[in-house]
Amino acid sequence: MAKISRRTFLKLATATGAGAALANSNILFQNVDPALAESTSPEVVKYTHCVQCNHGPRCGTKLILKDDKIYRIEKRENYNNNDLCAKGLASLQDIYNPKRVLYPMKRTNPKGEPSKWERISWDEAIATIAEKLNGIKEKYGADKVFFLTGDPKEPRSVLQRLAYTFGSPHMGTESSTCYLAAELATKLVYGPEWHTASSLAMGAMPTPGKTKVAIIWGNNASISSTFSFNRIKNARDSSTCKYILVDPRVTSNVHALADLHIQLRPGTDGALALCFGNALIEAGAYDKEFVEKWAHGFEEYKEYVKEFTVEKTAGICEVPAEVIQKAIDILVSEGAPIVCKASAAFPHHTNGVDSYRAVQLLVPLTGSLDVPGGPAIANEPLNIDQWNTTFEFCRSKDLLPKLDHLRADREYYPVWADLDKQGSVQLNVLPEYVKTGKAKAALMFGVNCMMWPQSQEYQKAFQDMEFCAAVDIYDNPWTHDYVDMLLPTAVSWERSCPVTLFGRKMILREPAVKPAGEARPDYRICCDIGTALGYKEEFWGGGEESEKNCIKEFLRTLDVDKPITYEELQAAKDGLVIPMRGEPKNKKWELGLLREDGKPGFTTPTGKVEFASETLKDHGFDALPKYKEPHISPVSQPEVFAKYPLILSTGNRVPMFTHSKQRNIPWLRELMPDPIVRLYKADAEERGIKSGDEVLISTPHGEIKAKAEVTVLLKPGMIDIFHGWAQANVNLLIPRDFDPISAFPAYKSTLCQVTKA
Ligand code: SF4
Repeated sequence: MAKISRRTFLKLATATGAGAALANSNILFQNVDPALAESTSPEVVKYTHCVQCNHGPRCGTKLILKDDKIYRIEKRENYNNNDLCAKGLASLQDIYNPKRVLYPMKRTNPKGEPSKWERISWDEAIATIAEKLNGIKEKYGADKVFFLTGDPKEPRSVLQRLAYTFGSPHMGTESSTCYLAAELATKLVYGPEWHTASSLAMGAMPTPGKTKVAIIWGNNASISSTFSFNRIKNARDSSTCKYILVDPRVTSNVHALADLHIQLRPGTDGALALCFGNALIEAGAYDKEFVEKWAHGFEEYKEYVKEFTVEKTAGICEVPAEVIQKAIDILVSEGAPIVCKASAAFPHHTNGVDSYRAVQLLVPLTGSLDVPGGPAIANEPLNIDQWNTTFEFCRSKDLLPKLDHLRADREYYPVWADLDKQGSVQLNVLPEYVKTGKAKAALMFGVNCMMWPQSQEYQKAFQDMEFCAAVDIYDNPWTHDYVDMLLPTAVSWERSCPVTLFGRKMILREPAVKPAGEARPDYRICCDIGTALGYKEEFWGGGEESEKNCIKEFLRTLDVDKPITYEELQAAKDGLVIPMRGEPKNKKWELGLLREDGKPGFTTPTGKVEFASETLKDHGFDALPKYKEPHISPVSQPEVFAKYPLILSTGNRVPMFTHSKQRNIPWLRELMPDPIVRLYKADAEERGIKSGDEVLISTPHGEIKAKAEVTVLLKPGMIDIFHGWAQANVNLLIPRDFDPISAFPAYKSTLCQVTKA
């Protein structure tokens, strides 16, 4: 098979948007090490899956090794999502990257200055961490220690186990700036039961032949989920379902799918959803039987949405009224079931939770919930949490409830704290936790301060803690200049995964090569620390068998009729399917399958789908999903708009990087060498800006420089900046002004100005 040069890689990756199925053509990636390329050693093949992007597609990969090093990567036949993208293929330059951290290191100069590190042994590192954390526990209480993860997601469950065993409820993840606001909004509609909420939180793609209308809200799977895009496109081509795409950008999803594109002003989706609700009710195109029996607050909702006439909504959203009317005509004439498909980023506005509640309610309103062709609630869910281990393994069912009263976030965001039973403390208020003495130390895996708005305040928070240890692949000054210790971790090809689940199929992922230098897998690091903290039994004494011991504990606590052993799982190279006990069912609330007491209904306070939320009412918020302007918008702050007349949207994906990752990979950097700001053509012309010009992007909160890319693929009046650049951290421009329900900032709707630098 042919080798591929870097030039060919770039050409192909660019031509395919860097995300398409490069490996489908049997194109191979050659290790950059020429000696390995020339080696006559026999090739060894190992099968595994990729986790270079952090949202768990786990594309199947075939690794070819020579001399115990990975030599090239191919797609793995008959496995999940095997259309590998550029990030997966270029991961060879991650594992063998000369910039990797290879040894434990401790700081020798004050935090806040460019790091000076001294190499130490693992024994010293683990003993120091245990001494510091136990010291803080003794002096202030275990809850003052925070356990944090960013990317990857795999260590979350063992870190949770460590936090709760230690006695702290403060396990937090990057998801408190990403996905969890969508789940929170979903819980407010359907109740806090996690399997229901997680099934419905992102909505669903249409089922060919069954779904009548799909409304896709700000989701661009062609870039953010390239692995699934072929399936989505095939479903589109083989069905009569109508696609309404709601997005201020003209994305490749819009090009590929849309029957109708609604290019609305960022942050106004809630008004559009309420307008759809009103139109459906006025046309009688809603499920009266469901509403009568299972809706709470429907009459109030019905009255409220009358405000959202097509004309008024067109004005709010800055969309021609005919376009909105056309969408309504489609919804009314095609009928149900419908699906709404969103993205984790949908609620990244100061009105995000209410807007997303308004979107979620369209599904039950039309009688589309958990029926063939509509969004489904999980059938016979396993006792497995969002991080693919059992609730019993991560101790979220037995230990977390006993620690719940210690949560720091309840004082600031009580709705978040009350509805989170899975264990994700809201981290956006970390600076406040530190200032008020609620956080004194942190142990963190793959955390990057750049993810937070006004990132410098989070840097200061880590700096002000009494002790902070980070585990990472690279030394990132943005974060590690503010910590006391940096530990080297194994990359995905070097570590086990606790267990991988594709629906009900479980697969064991084993390491393909040994970790570089003295790097250790995250699972082992947690078990070593847990043991040193005094929990030898709970962490099996740590050591090299840690990952295996964790997997055994997972299997021991898995609720299945016939227990599965580690050896059985290991031997099942194509995975083990956990059979269902009965047949799949629809409308599970009618059958009493959603509530612990087995009664029909939902897990909301009223037992019904809450068009008016009793939980929010109890906390002093509007019960209805009322539309409110974003806190900083052309309408809510015209005086700011006069000076900052463009809407800034960030957090949107690009094909070659996942968030702040992969900037050390030369092949990928050649695809996007510099930070880019995309401007609409007329806005650029008005400012005398051409593609390639260096420009200054400013808000009242900060400024950064980037290269301009002039485009017509945006709504006029908005700009789009990819995040995660150390030299141009866009989150310095975003204020710490949060959605009062979720504490999410306005990553997608703040005001800015762009000028030539
Ligand atoms: S989409 Fe790309 S980066 Fe993500 S798992 Fe698949 S190959 Fe890896």
